Amino acid sequence: MTGTAAPFAADDYRARMERAARSAAEAGLAGLLVAPGPDLVWLTGYAPPATERLTLLVLAPGQDPVLVVPALEAPDAAKSPGASALTLRDWTDGKDPYAVTAPLLDTGGRFGISDNAWAMHLLGLQKALPGTSYASLTEALPMLRAVKDRAELELLAAAGAAADAAFEEIRKLPFGGRRESEVAADLADLLRRFGHSQVDFTIVASGPNGANPHHEVGDRVIERGDMVVLDFGGLKDGYGSDTSRTVHVGEPTDEERRVHDLVRAAQEAGFHAVRPGAACQEVDRAARAVIADAGYGEYFIHRTGHGIGVTTHEPPYMIEGEEQPLVPGMCFSVEPGVYLPGRFGVRIEDIVTVTESGGRRLNDTTREMVIVD
Ligand code: ZN
Ligand code: ZN
Ligand code: ZN
Repeated sequence: MTGTAAPFAADDYRARMERAARSAAEAGLAGLLVAPGPDLVWLTGYAPPATERLTLLVLAPGQDPVLVVPALEAPDAAKSPGASALTLRDWTDGKDPYAVTAPLLDTGGRFGISDNAWAMHLLGLQKALPGTSYASLTEALPMLRAVKDRAELELLAAAGAAADAAFEEIRKLPFGGRRESEVAADLADLLRRFGHSQVDFTIVASGPNGANPHHEVGDRVIERGDMVVLDFGGLKDGYGSDTSRTVHVGEPTDEERRVHDLVRAAQEAGFHAVRPGAACQEVDRAARAVIADAGYGEYFIHRTGHGIGVTTHEPPYMIEGEEQPLVPGMCFSVEPGVYLPGRFGVRIEDIVTVTESGGRRLNDTTREMVIVD
């Protein structure tokens, strides 16, 4: 889920690390321990693979950031965009990396650790430092990466525009008579052609497969008369895209049109619920009410949206019970759907960012039903 880092300056990473350490202190944490993954990419621009060798960024209020790295990877770490904003502490094979890390955590107390840290590393730290305890970084600081700055918003908008360009091309290609997997391969090629370095998913769910929201692709041959849910995205210049449109092969039935119009109205309602200060759950409620009022409530079987940034799924979540208020700069999907088991599904998804005056869509291909061949 982590791609190459976007080109930010060392000062940007320094500011992010300082803010993260401050937020940790406000949350009652002694510091943050960040393993390879999206948090590390966002904080430092460094994107190593996660392995059995410990790589760990230690952030503590009032201390300079320290990146513990395997010695053989230290040259790469030293070249990362945020390297001048932190101190490298390398360890060689044969040494105990947890003993190397321990002095950095000698305040004891409770540390936030990234969700994707490997259990073996957390267990190693717990053994080396019996006086410490650990909490989920994402649970402690769910909004750490949620509010995007102007440069991040531009990258997200560019990723969205690239995904839209891919849709404008795929709709011109034949669907009927081809396998889902062939259309999906075309979608992946198009995303790359329009600048994506990483394709995270290309869902092509035709006919009854469309009723399974996470059906990826199969060998089913798409038929005339099929609804086809397309949901695709990945990373371009380190920031994510994620959009869905539902197309129809040939002329749709009245019912297919009605369900598509319903999902479109729900997506519109969710979008219009976006404004600063509204709770995340209000976006979900607004979209869900439209579908429930039409009698299809039981067929909308997932949350309305998720955040997006250096990953394609992250907080904040547009879901009942999430009272987090929306803040200008947040970016997330609004993606209601209706799934009729054994028959077909419809999903329409845009990435939306919060502005002072409401929502702004980062996807803008037509939301009317597109008829394909
Ligand atoms: Zn049909
Ligand atoms: Zn999607
Ligand atoms: Zn999505």
